[in-house]
Amino acid sequence: SSQAESSLTASGVTVAFGGFKALTDVTMSITPGSVHGLIGPNGAGKTTMVNTLTGFQAPTTGSVALGGKEVGRMSPHQLRREGVARTFQAGRLFTGLDVLDNLAVTGVGLGHSRSGSEAEALRVLGWMGVPHLAERPAAGLPYTDERRVGIARALMFAPDFLLLDEPAAGMSEAEAGDLAALIARVATELGTGVLLIEHNVGLVLSVSQHVYVLDAGQVIEEGDVDVILKSQVVRDAYFGA
Ligand code: ADP
Repeated sequence: SSQAESSLTASGVTVAFGGFKALTDVTMSITPGSVHGLIGPNGAGKTTMVNTLTGFQAPTTGSVALGGKEVGRMSPHQLRREGVARTFQAGRLFTGLDVLDNLAVTGVGLGHSRSGSEAEALRVLGWMGVPHLAERPAAGLPYTDERRVGIARALMFAPDFLLLDEPAAGMSEAEAGDLAALIARVATELGTGVLLIEHNVGLVLSVSQHVYVLDAGQVIEEGDVDVILKSQVVRDAYFGA
């Protein structure tokens, strides 16, 4: 289908660490312009899934396809160039640089000129509504700002797909609400396909068009928010009620 042709899709993915399967036969598709949620208890395999979709972890069996092309053996670097970017749970910023330089380094790495990269970095920060962060040292940034810069850096790649690994961790409800609005804009204004991994289930349900529920390495439910809220499987396995 044309949807498969333009999506980032894992099909029948199993990831084994020795004899332990962190993921078993997982099929999951991220389509452009919408937010997909990925929830599940600790150890369910969420981070392993993000790693697999971004080149940090090769599937043991199964495939990862981008626009219909197999990418399961590509490196993170190659996949970024193909339009798949991610954020990390911890900031991973260059602490000796200010925020603008952190972002500009990414642009230079992509082959842009120094001044072009800085201009792009300022444009991204402005689009996100945080232009004031540009001159702040990366070291000692408040947690929430560090998260924002992580997203800004991922947006420097102008990704077709963006995977966010627990971006709201440590945020207040108000900050998480701002983040939700930003994530929605990434999908609707930039046309990016987003995969959002979060412990904050309320945040995921508030912003996602489609939600996957992982438990013990398997997709136990998927669908729109109504489907997830009504799912007995999800209640039993995940909410424990
Ligand atoms: P989640 O993000 O949902 O908390 P993870 O994907 O981090 O889950 O982990 C899923 C399971 O796989 C856990 O039991 C974890 O201990 C295991 N696991 C993850 N990465 C590795 C690894 N590199 N080697 C061995 N086991 C791993």
